[in-house]
Amino acid sequence: MESIKHIFKIGRGPSSSHTMGPAKAAATFLALTPDGARYRVVLYGSLAATGKGHMTDMAIVETLAPKPVEILWKPEIFLPEHPNGMEFTALGADGRELLTKRYFSVGGGDISEDGTRHGTERIYEYATMDDILAHIGNRKLWEYVADREDADIWDYLQRVWEEMQQCIKGGLEHESTLPGGLMLPRKASTMYSRVQAMNQSLQHRYSTPVYAFAVAEENASGRTIVTAPTCGSCGVLPAVLYTYYTQYERNDKKILHALATAGLIGNLIKYNASISGAEVGCQGEVGSACAMAAGAFCQLMGGSSYQVEYAAEMGLEHHLGLTCDPICGLVQVPCIERNAFASIRAIDAAVFAVISDGKHIVSFDQVVRVMKATGHDLPSLYKETSLGGLAAEE
Ligand code: SF4
Repeated sequence: MESIKHIFKIGRGPSSSHTMGPAKAAATFLALTPDGARYRVVLYGSLAATGKGHMTDMAIVETLAPKPVEILWKPEIFLPEHPNGMEFTALGADGRELLTKRYFSVGGGDISEDGTRHGTERIYEYATMDDILAHIGNRKLWEYVADREDADIWDYLQRVWEEMQQCIKGGLEHESTLPGGLMLPRKASTMYSRVQAMNQSLQHRYSTPVYAFAVAEENASGRTIVTAPTCGSCGVLPAVLYTYYTQYERNDKKILHALATAGLIGNLIKYNASISGAEVGCQGEVGSACAMAAGAFCQLMGGSSYQVEYAAEMGLEHHLGLTCDPICGLVQVPCIERNAFASIRAIDAAVFAVISDGKHIVSFDQVVRVMKATGHDLPSLYKETSLGGLAAEE
């Protein structure tokens, strides 16, 4: 597995697969073809089906600017390698084709080419939770991350934590309408005021989903967020960490350790299954985010590494089969609410793991395998094409 820095990418929303990945592909292709006078980009499959709502064209055009770009949308063609395919062609001033390359946006802002992911160096020698737990014995999962990552990981995670807090604060302040045809008003700011008027017990419980709303609405507005593990699911982990920070203990060091563990959980899912909605549905995005947040919160509550594994397993297990069906291809409905509900579920899973005896039949590794198989069995209607489920009701 690669560095957990790839799980936590700081960038603009609303979609890691649809904006960060294509922007990275465009920058990679531009570096290969600096002499191109103009560009033609063909978008395939899921990327073409929902790319307009997700601002894919804007991400590519802005990256290749000031050179002119023609975008062709081919939602009916799914390339065999991955549902999120792109083909870039550079043209000379005389119209001659200089170079054509295909890239795939494989989730979390990563791209692949000829079956190989870009910029990924394997630094973890174990790639299953069971192997890692056997290796670390009584140590914590974050200590394994510290063993394998470069020394700058803590500075990086500090930046991630600061960005996450900024997102929550910004999302609680902004009150505009979200961009796109749904004309959805932002809700987090009003919800926060209403939660403040509740009794303390309700305040404690319902601040968390409001924080998730705040971040998910920032993402839907195309503002800077941190993938955790994707843009669409970026509200869950910050909401849960901020809940701990504001309601239990203002301890940055513990939060960074929790982020490290969450990153490791996300990495295991990404490596052994997928975090791409186009590949496995929303279980790979919001389900993975819930597993990461559940494990992180469990660790913050003093859970052992085995209890963290249990919390993460529950976080993912109870999202199995969750489809990706964003209305109008926008990362808004059901995505924003889904982040909110997953944040509550993550805390419940963590508390359940801490108060139970920790015994469970299905392991985290097993549920990751099942998630992958379930995702591959889902028809493409339910994998970011906006052709089925809620999207078909619009
Ligand atoms: S439904 Fe889930 S996977 Fe699909 S765009 Fe929304 S958050 Fe992402």
